[in-house]
Amino acid sequence: MPAGDPFVAAPAEIALASVLADNPPAADTLGLYVHVPFCTKRCGYCSFNTAPLEEGAMARYLEALHREIDLLGALPWAARVRLATVFVGGGTPSLLAAEDLAAALDGIRARFDVDADAEITVECNPESVTRQKLEGYRAAGVNRLSLGVQSLDDSILPRLGRLHDARGARAAFEAARAAGCANLSVDLMYGLPGLDLDGWTRAVDTVLDWGPDHLSAYGLTLDAGSLWGAAGIEGLPAEQEQIDQYWRLAHAAAAHGLEHYEISNYARPRFRSRHNQIYWHAAEYLAAGPGACGFLGRVRYANVKATPRYCEALADGALPVASAEQLSPRQRLAERLILGLRTADGVPTAWLEPRLDGERDLRRRIETWRAQALLVDTGDRVRLTEAGFLLSDALFVELL
Ligand code: SF4
Repeated sequence: MPAGDPFVAAPAEIALASVLADNPPAADTLGLYVHVPFCTKRCGYCSFNTAPLEEGAMARYLEALHREIDLLGALPWAARVRLATVFVGGGTPSLLAAEDLAAALDGIRARFDVDADAEITVECNPESVTRQKLEGYRAAGVNRLSLGVQSLDDSILPRLGRLHDARGARAAFEAARAAGCANLSVDLMYGLPGLDLDGWTRAVDTVLDWGPDHLSAYGLTLDAGSLWGAAGIEGLPAEQEQIDQYWRLAHAAAAHGLEHYEISNYARPRFRSRHNQIYWHAAEYLAAGPGACGFLGRVRYANVKATPRYCEALADGALPVASAEQLSPRQRLAERLILGLRTADGVPTAWLEPRLDGERDLRRRIETWRAQALLVDTGDRVRLTEAGFLLSDALFVELL
């Protein structure tokens, strides 16, 4: 959890060594996020927790991950919870050999009651998958793939630091389908340096013609932890150009029957990401892997970020929790509001009222948004419209 995160309460007295044992989840059903930190090369825009794939690093990581899963499974409340989703993210999880991924998933199933129809997702980069590897993933129980395409412009992709080209992206998509993946998501990015509206339209139309079940599209942000955030990058499209790119995708996705169900996510009916919905519903999830964040009860926690230190902690027999903080009721409410308003389902209107008590400016802002049809009431719920999604950051800052 970054310092100064607005969701986080003032430091409370939490014993890190026993924080997961001491804070049983309220729910019986959880998600599990597994972080695989390795990448062949760091992309310029990336601020995720990544590590270079050095000799022997994957084997050390896998050994530590198995230990962590064993320790999580031995928590006093673990036997009473079920896992409804497992999301293997990164980093580049598709650097995992199929047998290593299968062993990790077997370890999870040995320690936890995993729903028979659990959604099991693996993030894949196009250059690191083959049909054979993906068939191995499928045999291991993976039933959803998320393919990091980002762009189909062969002049932009190398600039991003990506290792695939447009043909490779298409080949990876086809390999996933040929391997039997019936729940396939594609990631794209807009607002990229050198990307104009025509180029974006071509990429969107091409990817939608592939027929993905789910599409995630993120506008580029220059985060402090990224190479571009530190050094800057030239050629970024103007703000209006980025807005036009957002709308171009929203209209094209709707024309292809995809529902815009979260600010950055589109899905065919019944293909929403179940795991990500756990986050947006502010529900509970476990975490494993370096830097992975979890949420149990009212406690948000994060693992040690550096992969060697993560491995050392587990070699010493300890869960690698580096920080944990308890959310205050006000912070919890703000989080539920903000995460819920990211989705097309919105939040119960009743959740908004306590946040507006004594907050005249915020109440006025909400009424203005209603008048401008950026925020609409549907039965007993309130939600942002697609125009509201686009401007939501300003509202979210005030809701904190
Ligand atoms: S964007 Fe993905 S592939 Fe690129 S460095 Fe970050 S985690 Fe690795």
